[in-house]
Amino acid sequence: MRRPLVAGNWKMNGSRAEAREIVGGILTGLGRVSNAEVVVCPPFVLLAEVSTAIAGSLVELGAQNCSTERAGAFTGEVAVDMLADVGCRYVIVGHSERRALYGEADDTVAQKFEMVRKAGLVPILCVGEQLAEREASATEAVVARQLDAVLALAGIDALGQGVIAYEPVWAIGTGRTASPQQAQDVHAFIRGRIATHNPTVAAKMRILYGGSVKGSNAAELFAMPDVDGGLIGGASLNAREFLTICAAA
Ligand code: PEP
Repeated sequence: MRRPLVAGNWKMNGSRAEAREIVGGILTGLGRVSNAEVVVCPPFVLLAEVSTAIAGSLVELGAQNCSTERAGAFTGEVAVDMLADVGCRYVIVGHSERRALYGEADDTVAQKFEMVRKAGLVPILCVGEQLAEREASATEAVVARQLDAVLALAGIDALGQGVIAYEPVWAIGTGRTASPQQAQDVHAFIRGRIATHNPTVAAKMRILYGGSVKGSNAAELFAMPDVDGGLIGGASLNAREFLTICAAA
C-alpha cells in the first residue's frame, strides 16, 4: 500500500510573513482533512522559518533544489547537508523549470538525486515532456530517458528510495491539466519501466502527478490507480486550496 504524498512547491514566492500565514493555515486545517503525507517546499531563505513553524506537526519540509557539490567554493549554491541541517526531509530534483531555465541536463539531475539520497534525504525526481514532445508522440521516450539517467548512475534500489513526480511541462502553471487518463497512462508507463528492473521497487514507488492541480480537479487525478498524490505549484500558496488537495489524496 502506497501512502499518498502531497508536496507544495512554492517556487520563488513568499515572504516570511506569508510563509507563516500559509503554514499556519495548513496546520490549523490539516488534522481534520488528510491522511496523506504532506510536504511544503519553500524557497531556501524561508526554510528555517518554516522548519520552526512546522516543528512537532505532521507537515514535513522539502527544498526545491540543491547543489551537486557537498561544500566549498561554490558561490550561490546550497548543499544538501545544509538542507538536512535545517530540517528538510525531501528535495525536489530536476524540476522542469530547472531543466528549461537553468540548463540542468539529465546527468546533472541524476547527480543531484544521488547527492540527496546519500545524505539520507528523499529526492523527488521530476520528469515530464514538453508540449512539442507530446505532440510528436515522444512522451514515453522523454520520460524514459529522464528516468534512465538516474537508473544508470544510481541503480534501481537507489531509485526506489526516491519519489517520482510526473509533470507534463505543458501543464505546469498553465491552468491546462493532463486528463486523469493522460496522467494514468504515463504513470503506468513509468511504473512498468521500473518493474522491468525490479517489480517490488515498482510496486512501492510513489509517483506523483504535477501540473495545474487544484482543489477542483485533485480528486479525479488522485483516483487513478497509479497516481499516488501530487506535486502542487500555484495552488500550494493558498492554505485552503492546498488543504482541499490534501483531503483528496
Ligand atoms: C510545479 O511547479 O511543480 C507545478 C506543478 O506547478 P503548478 O501546480 O502551478 O502547475
